Amino acid sequence: LSLVVSTYILIGQVSILGVPVHDVTLHEACDLVEHMIVQGEVQQIATVNPEFIMAARRGPEFMYVLQHTALNVPDGIGILWAARRKQHPLRTRVPGIELMDKLCGVASIHRWRAYFLGAQPGVAERAAAALALKYPGLMIAGTYAGSPSPNEDAEIVARIRAAQPQLLFVAFGAPSQDMWLARNLPRIASQVHSPIGCVGMGVGGAFDFITGVQVRAPEWMRDAGLEWLYRLVRQPWRWKRQLNLVRFVAATMLESR
Ligand code: UDP
Repeated sequence: LSLVVSTYILIGQVSILGVPVHDVTLHEACDLVEHMIVQGEVQQIATVNPEFIMAARRGPEFMYVLQHTALNVPDGIGILWAARRKQHPLRTRVPGIELMDKLCGVASIHRWRAYFLGAQPGVAERAAAALALKYPGLMIAGTYAGSPSPNEDAEIVARIRAAQPQLLFVAFGAPSQDMWLARNLPRIASQVHSPIGCVGMGVGGAFDFITGVQVRAPEWMRDAGLEWLYRLVRQPWRWKRQLNLVRFVAATMLESR
């Protein structure tokens, strides 16, 4: 397990099929992001699951992005399994939706501004409203469905620049959301004059779960590592995507033979 120096603490990291994943708890990840923002840093973070890793193996650009993010949290039981196989166990999983929720709690204390980009029209607004209700003090910098298409980058960047958020949640699904942030976060930040930083995070279907557009697996299934099965039953058309899980298991077993 190699140690990397993050902004202020030593955090362990393990490389899974070339993608670095950090050994952080939900609480530690939250502290790190808080510190980045307080220090005025502009950083991208990612929530790595097996689908991310298989997409990164197919797409060198996505691999490059994941190798340069400030923090990659282990999102998913498959990541913990792979790390254990490599004899570098990670302590716990950090679901992206829970990190996003907790970061909104931190933002509400600092009165930071959060921007919600992505999902179907109207969903980002409803997700932001639900979080503002849960965390009074959370400032909604803006919401926009937008599109991950590079044609729309300039217009979306202009909107977000004007809103000056400290937290930017992007829900375009992986890898589009992470590629979007890698392309555009530096352009957004170059116009931010405040000494407070900005952290961007891809959040997948999180807005859908917060608003009830999609339903998360019950806790017992999540605890048993069966979230993927729940999703497969509810959204069977995703079976092709879920073949990635099988490929991930095979690739990990080959790598650690
Ligand atoms: N999405 C979007 N624009 C697109 C494609 C997807 O806003 O062009 C949104 C979609 O509405 C959903 C989110 O991206 O809210 C993530 O979807 P998915 O469940 O596929 O993501 P995952 O959690 O599996 O990465």
